[in-house]
Amino acid sequence: MSQYDTIVIGAGHNGLVCAAYLARAGQNVLVLEAAEAPGGLAQYREFHPGYTASIAHSISHFSSSVQADLGLADHGFALQAIDTVGLRNSGEHVAVRADGLSGGNDADAAAYASYASLMQRFAAALAPFWEKTMPRIGSSKAADLLTFAHMGLKLRGLGKDDMREFMRIASLPMRDLADEFFEDDLVKAVLCWDGLIGSKMAPRSPNGAVLALLYRLSGASGGGHAVPVGGMGKLADALLAATEAAGATVRLGAAVERIDVGHAETGPLAHGVTLTDGTTIEAGNVISSADPRRTFIDLLGVEHLDIGFTNRIRRLRCDGFVGKLHLALSDAPEFDGLGQPEGRMIIAPEMDAIEFAFDDAKYGGLPEHPVMEIVVPSVHDPALAPAGQHVLSAHVMYVPYALKGGWNDAARSTMLERSVETIAAYAPGIREEIVFAEFLSPADIEREYGVTGGHWHHAEFVMDQMLMMRPTFGAAQYATPVAGLYLCGASCHPAGDLVGAAGRNAAKEVLR
Ligand SMILES: Cc1cc2nc3c(=O)[nH]c(=O)nc-3n(C[C@H](O)[C@H](O)[C@H](O)COP(=O)(O)OP(=O)(O)OC[C@H]3O[C@@H](n4cnc5c(N)ncnc54)[C@H](O)[C@@H]3O)c2cc1C
Repeated sequence: MSQYDTIVIGAGHNGLVCAAYLARAGQNVLVLEAAEAPGGLAQYREFHPGYTASIAHSISHFSSSVQADLGLADHGFALQAIDTVGLRNSGEHVAVRADGLSGGNDADAAAYASYASLMQRFAAALAPFWEKTMPRIGSSKAADLLTFAHMGLKLRGLGKDDMREFMRIASLPMRDLADEFFEDDLVKAVLCWDGLIGSKMAPRSPNGAVLALLYRLSGASGGGHAVPVGGMGKLADALLAATEAAGATVRLGAAVERIDVGHAETGPLAHGVTLTDGTTIEAGNVISSADPRRTFIDLLGVEHLDIGFTNRIRRLRCDGFVGKLHLALSDAPEFDGLGQPEGRMIIAPEMDAIEFAFDDAKYGGLPEHPVMEIVVPSVHDPALAPAGQHVLSAHVMYVPYALKGGWNDAARSTMLERSVETIAAYAPGIREEIVFAEFLSPADIEREYGVTGGHWHHAEFVMDQMLMMRPTFGAAQYATPVAGLYLCGASCHPAGDLVGAAGRNAAKEVLR
């Protein structure tokens, strides 16, 4: 008899959410995390003694259902809204707030009201499906047919005009959509950003950037960004507390080497795991929040899979395109025309600037002029740096995982220098304030956080890897071709970002 009903591999936010739901349903759950801290890509990172940041630095649509079901507020989790500011060299910035767009011209401010209202209607129509298991294509099961019918009705409920408009814009390149509504280049670039960040897509790319944007607009704040009060690490702290309060055991520093598989009459059956220290642990089910390549190829072994499925996993597109800059600063950075650098600041003066940075990277080169989003987390939580000092966190695009010639110290220094140079054009005193700087490439993120390709969503979030194709046929409903083995991480429907929906949906499938 197994000691545990379920082993969850990984204590990133999805692994913890999944474990908490299972434990609350009465299962005996063990979570095994390779790192010494929970949170995955959202865990604290002390990148220089006394200076702490995290890879993920803001939250736009963490699931309200997860927050309520797991009582995260009782475990100290609260969000503080931040503005999004598009930086202009002249200091005349553009700000996107809950109450509208400011800093652009009057025509754009008026256009934003109708744009935001349209996008909110579409996001609301799609919102229920991010928290549902997607039906199997070709299935005639009642639950699958009901989900299809519900999707159809939701879209039909938009009314004829909106439905036509939705069908028209769903696969438009972001550039075309922005050009239809706005005049100001900076406004267009800023409003594109949340359709592109984390993906291998630029404003001119077709293939789902609008859907990615609608995914991000689907949260309770309508796409507004926030940071956890007390720093990003508070998300993992609250999830860990909720998971343990539900009765699950979480072991940190426990890396899974192998998923153990036996053979039942129906085929292969996962029955536990072996850790890197040789310990074996039995369980009724194994749920992996690691990415699909790591789960199926490294931990399971392709000998347990058929060739078609193995090929689909090998072909998954999961090369990351976001690098991470962390600066330890002796003082608060001063951006021209801004007071406190409180919000999420985007440096992308126009859509072509984003496109050119992408052009460099898509051929395996480094962007000459990177584009980026910046948060200064220590403004919201002074404990992240020594008294009076600060940390700056920047998501830098587009930085290719598969760099021509490979990643080495010279390539990292080049990206660090180009990123600082870009920031210095808006915050001229920044160089003198730098106490320490680090640049992490997607390859560094892969190595340090155990995510194949260092990919934001564990696997690219585009049409052919979305909805009932996510991450691929045969594993799109959280169950996998191996009985007793499930997925629950960012590679599953709906996708990555700090949301928790994949963990919640996977737990529901296991409990079904
Ligand atoms: C550069 C970058 C910036 C980002 N910024 C943001 C942001 O600002 N906002 C946002 O919403 N999203 C952001 N994201 C995306 C977000 O961080 C991820 O989508 C999210 O963390 C995925 O959560 P997860 O729990 O599914 O996986 P992860 O966070 O990757 O956690 C998986 C866990 O599994 C563990 N693990 C893996 N293999 C094993 C093993 N063999 N044994 C034991 N444990 C194992 C890992 O150590 C890890 O802790 C960013 C991503 C990147 C790459």
